[in-house]
Amino acid sequence: MNGASGFTAEVAVVGGGPAGLVSAIALASSGVETVLIAPATQDDHRTTALLAGSVTALATLDVWSACRRDAAPLATIRIVDDSKRLLRAPEVCFNAAEIGLEAFGYNIENRHLLAALSTRAAQLKLSRVAVPAVALARDSEGVTVKLAEGAARVRLVIGADGQRSFCRAAAGIGTDRRSYPQTALTLNLEHDRPHRDTSTEFHTESGPFTLVPLPGRRSSLVCVLDPMQAAALASMPDAELSDEIERRAHSLLGKMRVEAGRGMFPLAVETAHSFARERIALVGEAAHVVPPIGAQGLNLGLRDAATLVELVADARRQNADVGGPDLLARYDAQRRADVTSRRIAIDLLNRSLLTDFLPAQAARGLSLYLVERVGPLRRALMREGIAPAVSQPRLMRGEMA
Ligand SMILES: Cc1cc2nc3c(=O)[nH]c(=O)nc-3n(C[C@H](O)[C@H](O)[C@H](O)COP(=O)(O)OP(=O)(O)OC[C@H]3O[C@@H](n4cnc5c(N)ncnc54)[C@H](O)[C@@H]3O)c2cc1C
Repeated sequence: MNGASGFTAEVAVVGGGPAGLVSAIALASSGVETVLIAPATQDDHRTTALLAGSVTALATLDVWSACRRDAAPLATIRIVDDSKRLLRAPEVCFNAAEIGLEAFGYNIENRHLLAALSTRAAQLKLSRVAVPAVALARDSEGVTVKLAEGAARVRLVIGADGQRSFCRAAAGIGTDRRSYPQTALTLNLEHDRPHRDTSTEFHTESGPFTLVPLPGRRSSLVCVLDPMQAAALASMPDAELSDEIERRAHSLLGKMRVEAGRGMFPLAVETAHSFARERIALVGEAAHVVPPIGAQGLNLGLRDAATLVELVADARRQNADVGGPDLLARYDAQRRADVTSRRIAIDLLNRSLLTDFLPAQAARGLSLYLVERVGPLRRALMREGIAPAVSQPRLMRGEMA
């Protein structure tokens, strides 16, 4: 595999989750020699709400056409205060049409998204190795990635290897991590009534209970609960759980039937102290983890991938080092504001649900009242919710990196 220079490729992407696959496909599509180090992924029954910019990026990379029939549009987002508290917030509805869009984005099962990405990677004849990376050795010229079998020598390693990132540890990058006293129970279900492309978020004292449309009369559920309650629900037989979820959803979608495959995800927020260091750059959950509230996690991860690939493609056009310190410093600086602002917004919203502190509840109620009543504020919030006002990488604007 080694060329005359002794390098296997210019860039190695470690991790075959969605952030890694998108990074590798975007690099290969921009003509950057790439090796994807991706052991087989585990079964994932979750779904991802991909916001408009992510959908544009996938369309630009010729992936979206293979996803579209398995994805449901999110035309309306409804927030309902379902708490028993003294101060309750008014119901708020966000319609994509109000900001001139057909949909805020689309919800798709992760297995379909990963399959579409893998197919595109194969079409591009991306060099792919199905064993894990086990060691990284850096020098002034490049990085040697030791694999469970064999090795690769590259100028830049993109660590897309998830929450317990091996690349992050190998780069000596620490994190700030905080756990919440909550667990998300996830599953998909069928229901008797149509969802009308509307995602409904019930805000309860333990966290949001969110139903997100899937094609047909199906939805995915992310139910954030106290860990004991989540475990109790997760252990119920199908029929009992279906009735319990229908009760919690106030029969909004009629009779419900849960499908096979339940997930439990303890909630935490974690941010790497740096998103890049000495020829190693982090994308996706290797760089930041946010609670599954407001569908931000992977959308942030895809903006990481798009930003980094744009910098690499530009460096390559200028015959500059794609793993050089200037490029990595620019990447870190360009991603920090977006990640920090989303993390703070999600944290504030989550804490305002958990707190019994009356002034905090009043502030949340007032904010939602203003959002409901003041059109320009609501529209600004919708635009910021789907894409940051600060720079959008080229892929998210429909241009190749
Ligand atoms: C309940 C829930 C709901 C969510 N809903 C949404 C949503 O609606 N919208 C949204 O934007 N986000 C959502 N998210 C967040 C989203 O799921 C994550 O951001 C996303 O899955 C992270 O992708 P990733 O590629 O960074 O990491 P991962 O999917 O974790 O992939 C990492 C990969 O790296 C591999 N790996 C690990 N170590 C090595 C190694 N040494 N060598 C090689 N490979 C390695 C692993 O096998 C894995 O395949 C949700 C999260 C949760 C928990």
